[in-house]
Amino acid sequence: MPASTTRRSFLVLSGVGLGLAPALSALAQDDIDVPTVPPPKFATALFDGKDLSGWVSRSGGPAGWKVRGSYMEVVPGSGDIHTKRAFGDFQLHLEFWLPYLPEAKGQARANSGVYLQGRYEVQVLDSYGLESKDNDCGAIYKIAAPLVNACKKPQVWQKYDVAFRAPRFDAAGRLTEKARITVFHNSVMIHNNLELPDTTPGELDKQISKPGPILLQDHGNLVRYRNIWIIPVK
Ligand code: MG
Repeated sequence: MPASTTRRSFLVLSGVGLGLAPALSALAQDDIDVPTVPPPKFATALFDGKDLSGWVSRSGGPAGWKVRGSYMEVVPGSGDIHTKRAFGDFQLHLEFWLPYLPEAKGQARANSGVYLQGRYEVQVLDSYGLESKDNDCGAIYKIAAPLVNACKKPQVWQKYDVAFRAPRFDAAGRLTEKARITVFHNSVMIHNNLELPDTTPGELDKQISKPGPILLQDHGNLVRYRNIWIIPVK
């Protein structure tokens, strides 16, 4: 190789090393699974890869989804599943994986969802590369679009970390403070202490003064979840 070529290669490689090509490395991350996050000692495992014994269907029967290896997968048509336990304020972690559906458009593209207290849906969808709207991945469905689109590509493990603060009521039972939510998607903040004016479509109920479960949506696509844990906040 001539010396001039060697020098050019060196300059290009130096440029990468100096961070002159950050877009390239950031894009490459979109192809890489998030590392699984072990539950802290304070956490309660809601799904640790073993079975769905902590979960039921909407009617209270057995959860109809499949467990394969370390993850659970939607069985289309079997319906939503939710935890047996109900929660007030909490921190939630979960990891999800979306199938690649190149023929599908919009809401048909790897749809699922995580309903907090069974009432407020954080949308799960393949929205990679889109300008996010209030029904895209990371949106609080029809309430707020994510602040940024932090999606990875389909067929890659992603994660949500959620801080949820339940609504507050006075002694007479009047609502004094609405629910609030902060969400990180793949470690990026996508909702910052957002007030939730209402429940979202498909909610289990509208009894917002009561604790509620974590519900995962069957929207007909083979979405997977793994490593779900929660830290109830007193
Ligand atoms: Mg959904």
